[in-house]
Amino acid sequence: MVDTHAHLHFPQFDKDREEILEKIKEKFDFVVNVGISIKDSIKALSLALKQNNIYSTFGVHPHEAKDTDLEEFEKVFKKVYKDYGRKIVAIGEAGLDFYRNLSPKEKQYEVFEFQIDLAKEYNLPLVIHCRNAEKELSEIIKRKGKDIKGIIHCFNGDKTLLKTALDLGYFISYSGIVTYPKNEALRETVKYVPIDQILVETDSPYLAPQPVRGKRNTPLYVVYVIQTLADILDIDFLEFKRIVTVNAKRAFNIPLTIKELRFDPTIKVKNVLYVYLDNPSHEKDVKFFFGKNVSKLPYEDKLCAGHILYLIKNPKLYDKIVFVVENPSQEIEKVIKECKEYLEKRNVKVEVEDGKHSEIRRFFGQKII
Ligand SMILES: [Zn+2]
Ligand SMILES: [Zn+2]
Repeated sequence: MVDTHAHLHFPQFDKDREEILEKIKEKFDFVVNVGISIKDSIKALSLALKQNNIYSTFGVHPHEAKDTDLEEFEKVFKKVYKDYGRKIVAIGEAGLDFYRNLSPKEKQYEVFEFQIDLAKEYNLPLVIHCRNAEKELSEIIKRKGKDIKGIIHCFNGDKTLLKTALDLGYFISYSGIVTYPKNEALRETVKYVPIDQILVETDSPYLAPQPVRGKRNTPLYVVYVIQTLADILDIDFLEFKRIVTVNAKRAFNIPLTIKELRFDPTIKVKNVLYVYLDNPSHEKDVKFFFGKNVSKLPYEDKLCAGHILYLIKNPKLYDKIVFVVENPSQEIEKVIKECKEYLEKRNVKVEVEDGKHSEIRRFFGQKII
C-alpha cells in the first residue's frame, strides 16, 4: 500500500507521530512526505531519514513562493540532494494557486517554472499543485513540461488540466475529495485516466475522506480512496491496491521487486482472467498494464504456451479465460491455439478477443471529448 502525498512533519502530528510511523512501517510499501518551502523540505527530509519506507520531496508550494529566493533554493537543493538524494524522490509540491492568492501571481509563475527546470535537470518527477489556475497551469506544462514526469496531486476534476496532463503522460493522483458525496463530477473523470497512470494520496493532515471527514487525516485513511476508485472501476480492492502501488513506484522511480518486473500478461477482473498479448518487438520500453509488465523484452525467450499456462496457474478458478490480442502475429496466434486446446480439453471456457474491442479496453482510459 502507498500514500503518494502526506505532510507527516507538520505540527498536527506532534502528539502521536511515532505511533503513526509505526503503523506505516507495518502496513505500507512507502509514503511520500512532501515539503512546501525550502525550510519545510529539510524538515520533510529529516523525517524521511528516520524510516526506510518514507521518502520525501523538495520544493516550494505556490503559497510560499513569495518568500523564496531562487538562488538560495538552488544552492540548498544542490547540497541536500548530493548528500541525501536517495531519499528525495521528487521536486515539489510546486504549482499555481489562485484561490487564496497568498503569493503574487508573477512570483508563483517564476517559482513554478524554476522547479520545472530543476525537475528536468535532476531527472526527478514533479509534484504539481493546482487550484483555480487550471488553464494557466495547462499552458505552462504544455510549453515547458514535455520532458518531465509530472504528477497532478489532489486532482480536482478539471477537464482542461486532465487532458493536458494525460497528453503529456503524467500521473493523476486522487485524494480523499473523490470520496465526498457531492463530487460526482470528479468520480466521473476516473474513466478517462489509464489505470496505470492513477495514483492515490491523502494530503494528510488535510482532506480526510468521507467516513472520517473533518478529522485530522493520516496515511492510513488512504484505504478509503483506494476503495472508492476500485468501486468506480468495478475491480477488486486488493487488485487495485497492488496496481496503485506499482504505479507509485513507477512514478517516483522507486525500484520494483523482481516479481513486479516479471513478464505477466494475466489480468484478473472479477471472475474472468484476461491474457493480454501484444506484439512488443517494436517497443523499447516496458509496457505496464494493470500494474504488470505485459511486454516481453527482445532479449527474453520467445513466447510459448507453456509459459502462459504456467502464469494462468489454476484455470478452474475462473468462469472463463479470454485471450486479448493487441497486435496479432503468427507467434501469438500459435501460442493461443496451443493454450486453447490444452484448456478446452480440461473443460475451461476460452474466448479470443481483438484488443481494440475488448472489455478491458476501458482500463486504457476513454478519450476526453
Ligand atoms: Zn497541494
Ligand atoms: Zn500537500
